[in-house]
Amino acid sequence: MSRKTRERLIAFNEDRICPQDISALRRRLKTWYRKNRRDLPWRATCDPYRIWVSEVMLQQTQVDTVIPYYQRFIKRFPTLQCLAEAELQEVLKLWEGLGYYARARNLHHAAKWVVEKHGGEVPNQWAAFNALPGVGDYIASAVLSIAFQEPSPVVDGNVKRVLSRLFEIDLPVNSSSSYRIFKSTAARLLDSKDPGGFNQALMELGALVCKPKNPDCDACPLKDRCKARRAQAVNAYPKRFSRRAVPQFHLAVGVIFKNRRVLIVRRPDNGLLGGLWEFPGGRVSPQESPEAACRRTVLETVNLKVEVSARLTRIYHAYTHFKIFADVFICRYESGRVKLNGPAEHRWVSVKALSRYPLHRTQHKFIHLLPLKEPSDIRSG
Ligand code: SF4
Repeated sequence: MSRKTRERLIAFNEDRICPQDISALRRRLKTWYRKNRRDLPWRATCDPYRIWVSEVMLQQTQVDTVIPYYQRFIKRFPTLQCLAEAELQEVLKLWEGLGYYARARNLHHAAKWVVEKHGGEVPNQWAAFNALPGVGDYIASAVLSIAFQEPSPVVDGNVKRVLSRLFEIDLPVNSSSSYRIFKSTAARLLDSKDPGGFNQALMELGALVCKPKNPDCDACPLKDRCKARRAQAVNAYPKRFSRRAVPQFHLAVGVIFKNRRVLIVRRPDNGLLGGLWEFPGGRVSPQESPEAACRRTVLETVNLKVEVSARLTRIYHAYTHFKIFADVFICRYESGRVKLNGPAEHRWVSVKALSRYPLHRTQHKFIHLLPLKEPSDIRSG
């Protein structure tokens, strides 16, 4: 950080946070957290590996969604060594449906790294932990502060929302350039005697009380010091940059039957949904029918000629930066040998055996509709 930026941050914080307030805020937050914290499975442990798993899962994902995934994951991989020895496909299968699969691949890779380079002990130093695959500023601060009491502030969406209301911070929370200001504000408040407890308390306040909509200010332990509340401007915070319109893509997907089996392909390990299995297909071009796109993209990606027998369904899915809608077709194999152009691997499997493979979420939106019979028995429609 340059000297000029540092000075700007200091001036910004001194302007907003008076030192007498800091100890009162810490005290009230701590008391509130002791009485109100949720009883979550990862809060019952001091094991840095388990805390790390929970923090990785919690990125971009709601607590209620994470709990069953966390429990299954820890049951199967109770130690970092168990995870490091596992096959990536098994890790992805346990992560199936949780989304953001790069998190699972990185965690698996990092576990192997810790075994190789750190003798299986999660490093408790910032530089060593932050160098692990998939570990960024948020994960490093969360894991090191909670597991090892490293005095590093955590800044997630909940924390930014609380701080922006508490101190009327007019900077957009969804801009990377404002991150340093929020981080420095959180650092100024951080209780160095119990950084892990403080970080969890601030995140918990954002999750339970200072919620995005209808914050429960009457129940807030910080209400007397909250600038937005005092100015009756709670709903004006946090500030956000308006996002550009999210693009939407039209896809065609082919479920190709051959001898009562269907063809699935595995995506390359790197990139979106890396390592997961799916049915072949691709983008529908302008002026092309979805059926023609299905035949074309199947030929292009797996080198098979197919006949489209029936349209199974249309599915919709939203990713972080784009949306898709996909027409899913039942296809009959006509000719050709599988030659992959893009996918890393292929398998012919029975419909029942699909449950053994880690499939991404869009595939789960239609596999329950798949017939077990050959397409010759299916009426077009
Ligand atoms: S008083 Fe309301 S707006 Fe201010 S921090 Fe508490 S819950 Fe958030």
